[in-house]
Amino acid sequence: MVTQSTYIARDRCHRCGGFMVPEEIREVNQMGWRCVMCGEHIDQLILEHRRQMATPEGARQLSEKREKARLN
Ligand SMILES: [Zn+2]
Repeated sequence: MVTQSTYIARDRCHRCGGFMVPEEIREVNQMGWRCVMCGEHIDQLILEHRRQMATPEGARQLSEKREKARLN
């Protein structure tokens, strides 16, 4: 399976460089990725959060959301 291993190699774990394997997340009906080496988990929501956290404004909005969720 040359095609598949090439595809997986593109998605190395950002923590340890291990292989990321596709993982179905049934709750949100999406595909995520899990590192076979350290168990690091990545999905679209995490990637989206990571993008927002890259800006001060995004980080502030996220922490406000978390505080509101805690009040409920
Ligand atoms: Zn890893």
